[in-house]
Amino acid sequence: MIIILKPEVDPSGPEVQQILNLIHLHGEVQTRISGVTGKERKVVEIYVIGDTSRLPDEEIQRLPGVERVVRVSKKYRLIGRHRDDLEPLGFEYNGLYFDQDSFHIFAGLCAVDTPENVEAMFRALKEAGIATSRMGAYKPRTNPYSFQGHGRKCLPWVFELAGKYGIKCIAMEVTRENHIEEIYEELERAGRPTGVMLQIGTRNAQNFELLKAVGSQDEFPVLYKRGMGITLEESLNACEYIASEGNRKIIFCLRGVKTNLGDPHRNLVDFAHVPVVKGLTRLPVCVDPTHSVGRRQLAPDGLQEIFHAAAQGVIAGANMILVEFHPRPETALCDGPQALRLEELPHFLEDMRIVREAYLARRDLARRYAGLTKEVSHGYPLSSACTV
Ligand code: PEP
Ligand code: MN
Repeated sequence: MIIILKPEVDPSGPEVQQILNLIHLHGEVQTRISGVTGKERKVVEIYVIGDTSRLPDEEIQRLPGVERVVRVSKKYRLIGRHRDDLEPLGFEYNGLYFDQDSFHIFAGLCAVDTPENVEAMFRALKEAGIATSRMGAYKPRTNPYSFQGHGRKCLPWVFELAGKYGIKCIAMEVTRENHIEEIYEELERAGRPTGVMLQIGTRNAQNFELLKAVGSQDEFPVLYKRGMGITLEESLNACEYIASEGNRKIIFCLRGVKTNLGDPHRNLVDFAHVPVVKGLTRLPVCVDPTHSVGRRQLAPDGLQEIFHAAAQGVIAGANMILVEFHPRPETALCDGPQALRLEELPHFLEDMRIVREAYLARRDLARRYAGLTKEVSHGYPLSSACTV
């Protein structure tokens, strides 16, 4: 059960105490109070977990602090949509806003290698007006003898360079719990010149202890990548672990699924699931065209296959793109063959702008046909809420 409080109610005030007293009178349940930053206002919700069958909905609904009582289905209790009764989960991080309407492009290196390459990437992003990037310091590799990432020791100069070029958020994978602490300490030491979104890679999609670790901290948002060999339902359940520990700043990322049926691509592109995940959950949805396609290959029409896959995700309403670039892909220490070249960045951004605008136009058209709104709304203007 989720109890949504009236906007003026103080979460530590007497109205909330009254609600908690009534709940605990009727059942052995646990409660957790959580703030959700919606588009128009901050909503405070009380999550009631356990056997809620004996809780008197109507009596709770009549209490002075209560705006609404929502009975949630068993599935995806916290991240789920539950028949549109709840606010989409949006959040603000380091001056950036993420929800199911926003749009951001996180472009960068698969793995941090040299300061020169990291700087070239950040400089290109700054020139393009982009403040979001990706940089892997801890790399989970299939082969134990492959480059494993520079780890903690590269963080000071990566963060310093990010600050120099106005990068506000870097998506960075963590593969074990203490990486969170390392990132936190190095960010503090550097004077917080940038922010980090903790990435859970596909190989850790069901590493429940790691999911609990990123979920039990509230400092960093989490980019959760679907498992490449499990069902969507299993991935969503695993993602729920993050929210169940308290952190609601989550983005769900599609990155393709493993099957030979996707050959010659590295994975089978699964971006038809963008609207599915947006419908099942309240989370913003990201697409990763790089690991889906897995190769730099120009199509006969002059577009990279990665551009085409990214476009499929964006035209279906994706809220974020995670994409790999490299100044010299031939020398990259990880995933060089699938990195786009830095010179291709302006073309990619322009292409994505066209597709995003096409999506917004499609959404307006659908609203008009559904008679939901008389005015044609363009959602967020591209210039303010988006990084392109
Ligand atoms: C990555 O984005 O760096 C990565 C390793 O991706 P995935 O976990 O989707 O394979
Ligand atoms: Mn990679």
